[in-house]
This record gives sequence, C-alpha cells and structure tokens, in this order.
Amino acid sequence: MTFTLACGDVMPGCAMRFESSSKDELMQQVAAHARADHGIEEVTPEIAEAVDGKILTY
Ligand SMILES: [Zn+2]
Repeated sequence: MTFTLACGDVMPGCAMRFESSSKDELMQQVAAHARADHGIEEVTPEIAEAVDGKILTY
C-alpha cells in the first residue's frame, strides 16, 4: 500500500507532496517539512488528525 499526502490539502498554497509505503514514515516526512517550511515545531494531536484525514492510500 502507498500512502500519499498533498500538503496543500492541509496547508493551503503549499505545493509539497509526500509519498511513502509506511504511514509512520509519511508522518515523519510531514513533520520534518512542517517544521522546516511552516514553522510548526510540534505536530499536535489536532494537526496529526487533520493530516491523517487527508492521507490517500492506493
Ligand atoms: Zn507544506
């Protein structure tokens, strides 16, 4: 299974996309990107839930 996320679905205007075969790894990529590019130091449960809701699998 492949997990994908378009950051723009969570952060409007962001063109970054993520893809991983592991949901945990995908979340790590998102967390690193959020910290580097969105100034989000910590992925709170609220953010994690918002991100989780936008992850597509195929
Ligand atoms: Zn982004």
